[in-house]
Amino acid sequence: RQAKESGNHVTVYHTGLESQSLRRVGLAADLRRAIDAEALEVYYQPKIDLSTGGVMGAEALVRWSHSTYGFVSPEEFVAIAAQTGQLGRLTEWVLREAMKKAAEWGDETGPLSMAVNLSPRTLADLNFPDRVGHILNDNGIPTDRLIFEITEDDMVADGPRLTPVLQRLHEAGVQLAVDDFGTGYSSLSYLRRLPVNEVKIDLRFVQGMNTDPDDRAIVKAIIDLATHFGMRVVAEGVETAEVMEELKELECDYGQGYYFSRPLPADRFARWLDLHRHSGSS
Ligand code: C2E
Ligand code: MG
Ligand code: MG
Ligand code: MG
Repeated sequence: RQAKESGNHVTVYHTGLESQSLRRVGLAADLRRAIDAEALEVYYQPKIDLSTGGVMGAEALVRWSHSTYGFVSPEEFVAIAAQTGQLGRLTEWVLREAMKKAAEWGDETGPLSMAVNLSPRTLADLNFPDRVGHILNDNGIPTDRLIFEITEDDMVADGPRLTPVLQRLHEAGVQLAVDDFGTGYSSLSYLRRLPVNEVKIDLRFVQGMNTDPDDRAIVKAIIDLATHFGMRVVAEGVETAEVMEELKELECDYGQGYYFSRPLPADRFARWLDLHRHSGSS
């Protein structure tokens, strides 16, 4: 943007790079302090059973509000955490928070699954399954209530390396979801070799399915094939009633998106859950 204004590409390019790496270095140091101080937050977004309207579970999404940069996207700071050796602490903090909440929220009207996003590096750590087991134990959560979400791209890029840890988690009963499915170059038949329980259709197809016949065909194909392989299907990014109706027509199991609720801080999610459970839709 600046380059266009000044017309001097070279200078602006260097300045841009410099401030980019300065931001990174600053964020890495501040992130370390934020994790130490437990200054991050976890937001929760419901996954809705489209046939009953009930809540099947929640996805935990980490949030960081930086004192000078403001809200930093999790995609940016999770990558920084991975590059600066802080991913393990970050992931375990999110997992612990989410499991505490799952224990708190699960009992009233039935179980609530809790999904936590993982970066591939976490799954290269052979001790990870043991630590997960401890966290589940500490909070009295049955293993099958925990779902780990890994993006299709990560799963394909690192598949063979991740397999031993994925296999151990699977044997312990933990569930696995493929996130952002449809954007990569894999196929469901490849993913069938991994212990996948759930497929999450990437929001760009879901959001386009009302207006673009190609997107609708992709969504339909994913639903049909995943169902055939015995995997659960979740549509991400459901923002309108029209899309929800369309998904129901295609017999999609679950939906997630702003139409139902934005990701909410724990206390607000608890209130949302209470209202939703007593509204008769489940
Ligand atoms: P994701 O796991 O695919 O999460 C879904 C993203 O879509 C979230 O963005 C969510 O806020 C957003 N979203 C939900 N419903 C709608 C909708 O109806 N419309 C639109 N436009 N967006 C919707 P968020 O929270 O910014 O997270 C971005 C990504 O960061 C996540 O994508 C996930 O890959 C990663 N991430 C978030 N939390 C964690 C974490 O604790 N650990 C790791 N490793 N990654 C995380
Ligand atoms: Mg996810
Ligand atoms: Mg996703
Ligand atoms: Mg994503």
